[in-house]
Amino acid sequence: MVRRNEIRPGERAVDLPPAYDASLYFIGRIRTPWSDRLDCPRQGRFDGPQCRLEIDARWQEGLDSIEEFARLEVLYWLHQSRRDLVHQSPRNGGRARGVFSLRTPVRPNPIGTAIVKLERVEGAVLFVRGLDCLDGTPLIDVKPDRTLFEPPAPPRKGDFQVGDA
Ligand code: SAM
Repeated sequence: MVRRNEIRPGERAVDLPPAYDASLYFIGRIRTPWSDRLDCPRQGRFDGPQCRLEIDARWQEGLDSIEEFARLEVLYWLHQSRRDLVHQSPRNGGRARGVFSLRTPVRPNPIGTAIVKLERVEGAVLFVRGLDCLDGTPLIDVKPDRTLFEPPAPPRKGDFQVGDA
């Protein structure tokens, strides 16, 4: 699915809306070994290379107690992505699909998410493994992995269960 800017057979683009609905504050930058999208892994791995989340000084106090968590969820802005392709085809052929049934970086709001392993904290820098983005990718948010932060509540009558029709 990695692309430069081409439209492939079976793909469709839409006109983007005339205005944005919200704004973001980037809280820092992600430092990784990859400077070209074609070299990035499709998804990060806990045994992948060590990367850094460099948090801007303004937000550093927000890191208090983060070292208590072995895993974090990271949200980042895939800033080199186009945003208008609603129907996309894999690079090497195969069935085209709607954007919301894909983890493609090309999406209306190009937000990437990863669960990373936190190795250490030095000041405003988090050393992590498990990323899959370009060096310099803007960082949107960091939070404890939801499965560590709060034990999942036991299922209640009427809750959807995996395997339900
Ligand atoms: N793990 C995230 C997710 O599932 O939401 C992102 C997955 S996406 C398939 C990862 C790919 O996005 C990389 O292989 C690379 O091709 C592309 N990519 C990485 N950083 C990017 C950036 N800053 N801008 C645009 N594309 C990027």
